[in-house]
Amino acid sequence: MRQDQEDPYQRRSAQVYAAADRASSGSVASPRPVLYDAVLLDRDGTLIEDVPYNGDPEKVRPVPGARAALDRLRAAGLRLAVVTNQSGLARGYFGGEQMLAVHARVEELLGRFDAWLVCPHDDADGCDCRKPAPGLVYAAARELGTTPSRCVLVGDIGRDVAAAMAAGAAGVLVPTPVTRPEEVAAAGWVATDLPAAVAEILRRQQAVQPSTPPTGPVRTALVVRSDSAGDVLVTGPAIRAVAAGAERVVLLCGPRGRAAANLLPGVDEIIEHPLPWIDPTPGPVDPEALRSLTARLGAVDVDQAVVFTSFHQSALPLALLLRMAGIDRIAAISDDYPGSLLDVRHRVPVGVPEPERALSLAAAAGHRLPDDDEPVLRLRRDAVPPRPADLGDPGYVVLHPGSAASSRACPPEVATRIVGALTDAGHRVLVTGGPDERAVTARVAAAGGTDLGGRTDLAGLAAIVADASAVVVGNTGPAHLAAAAGVPVVSLFAPTVPFGQWGPYRVPTVRLGDAAAPCRDTRAASCPVPGHPCLSAVDPDDVVDALRTLAVSGGGGR
Ligand SMILES: [Zn+2]
Repeated sequence: MRQDQEDPYQRRSAQVYAAADRASSGSVASPRPVLYDAVLLDRDGTLIEDVPYNGDPEKVRPVPGARAALDRLRAAGLRLAVVTNQSGLARGYFGGEQMLAVHARVEELLGRFDAWLVCPHDDADGCDCRKPAPGLVYAAARELGTTPSRCVLVGDIGRDVAAAMAAGAAGVLVPTPVTRPEEVAAAGWVATDLPAAVAEILRRQQAVQPSTPPTGPVRTALVVRSDSAGDVLVTGPAIRAVAAGAERVVLLCGPRGRAAANLLPGVDEIIEHPLPWIDPTPGPVDPEALRSLTARLGAVDVDQAVVFTSFHQSALPLALLLRMAGIDRIAAISDDYPGSLLDVRHRVPVGVPEPERALSLAAAAGHRLPDDDEPVLRLRRDAVPPRPADLGDPGYVVLHPGSAASSRACPPEVATRIVGALTDAGHRVLVTGGPDERAVTARVAAAGGTDLGGRTDLAGLAAIVADASAVVVGNTGPAHLAAAAGVPVVSLFAPTVPFGQWGPYRVPTVRLGDAAAPCRDTRAASCPVPGHPCLSAVDPDDVVDALRTLAVSGGGGR
C-alpha cells in the first residue's frame, strides 16, 4: 500500500452526528471542500484562442466567458494554475521573455493565476512534463500545496485529459473544432465550453456537501448496495460519509458483493440478501424470502436508511420493504416518482463518477466525509491478508484479463500478447483471475507470466494488487481494488458503460481500447459486436508505453 493511504483506514466517528455543535461552530458553512482544491487550465485553445507558437502579447484573445468563469472559481476558494506545452521554446519560435510577456497579458485580461507550469520541450526531448505525460500536473499540485487527486484539469485536446488522468487528477475536455472525435469519445468528462466546465466543477463540488445535517440523530444507519464487488467498492466513500455521522452502520448487500463488503471501512455489520430487482441473473421472487428479509431489517432498529443504486437500477422496491419494516427515514436516488416511499428523493445528472454520485446521495441525507478523510476508495487493512511469500518482492505488474461480464473482458489472445510485451520490456507479470477463469489465466500466463488464476479470494487478490506497481485490467472489480490501494491502472476499458462514471477513481490511470466502438453505452454483458473490437485492437506496445507514462519501470520498481 502507498504510505499516504495507511493512516486513515477504518476511520470511524464514534459519536452521533453533532448537528447543533457543527452548526454553531460554523463548520457547516465553510468546511474544507470534499473534492477539489485547485483547477488546472491548459492555455492555448482553452483559456485563450490558439495562435500557433505565439510570442506576441497583442495576439492574446481570451475565449468567451473566460474571465467570469475563472472569477467564479476564485470566489469559490479554488486555486488556479496554467499547465501548458510550449514547444515553440524548444523550436526557437519565440524566447522566454516573449512568453512571459504573453503570460502577463493573459493575467491582465483574465486575472491572476496562482502558478504557471510550462513544458519548454519538444516531443523528441522525451521529457516527463510534456502533456500527455503527467509531470506538469504533479508540479502544479505541488506548487499549489495539494495533491493531483484534489485537482481537476480543463483542456481542449486528448493530451490534456490524458495528462490529468495519468496523475490521478480529474480531466475535463472542452472540445474545439480541432479536437479529434476519438479524443472526445475517450474523455470521461466533456463540457461544451469553459463556462460550462466551470459550472459543472462547482456543481459537483457542491453536490457532495450537505446543506443541512440529518433531520435527527442517527444511531443506526442502514446503507444498501446490492450488485457486484465493483459496485460495493465504489460506494465506499459514501458509506464512510454516513459512518462519520452515525454510531453504527449496517450494510445490506447481495451475495456477489459480499466479499467486497467485508473489505469496507466504516461497516459494523453486514446483512447479505439477494434482491431480485437488482441482480443481473435473478431467481424468481420468493415472497417468503422477502418477508423474512423485511422482518430482519425491522429488527435492526434503523434510524435512517440510505439506498445506493446505479443509474439503471431502482431503489423503490426495497424502499417499500423498508417502509414495511417500519423504517421512516429513507434516502435514495430516483428519477421515478417515489410517492411516499422516500423522504429524500435525490437526483443526479448522468456522467458523474459513481463514488461522487453516491457521496452526493449521502450529502442529500445530511452526511459528508470528515475533513481528514479523502474521497478515495479504501479497504480495511485488517481485512486484507498478508501477500503470499512465494510471489517475490513487490513491484510486479498484475494483469487481470477476465471480467464477470464478458463484454468487459480482455480477449485472451490480446492478454497473451500483452504478457509477452511486458515480459520483453523487463516487467514481472502476475496473471490473476477467479476460480472459473483458470483456463484463461493459464493460457495467458504461458506467455511469460505467473499464473495465479483461482488462487485467491477477493481479499487475497487485494493483497496482491496492493504490492503491484500497476494493474492492467478491464472495467471490473480489481480495477477498483487497485484504486483503493492507490496502485496505478492501465484500464482496458470497454465502453459499454460511461468511462466517466466507472473508470478507476482518483488513481493514476491510462485508458486504452476503442472508446467509440459500437458497443458504446449498450450496457451489454456479452459483447454485441462480432470480434469484440473495443478491446481486440489494443496494441501490447501501448500497454508498455502506458506503464512508462505511469512511471512504472521494467526493473520491478516504480
Ligand atoms: Zn517537458
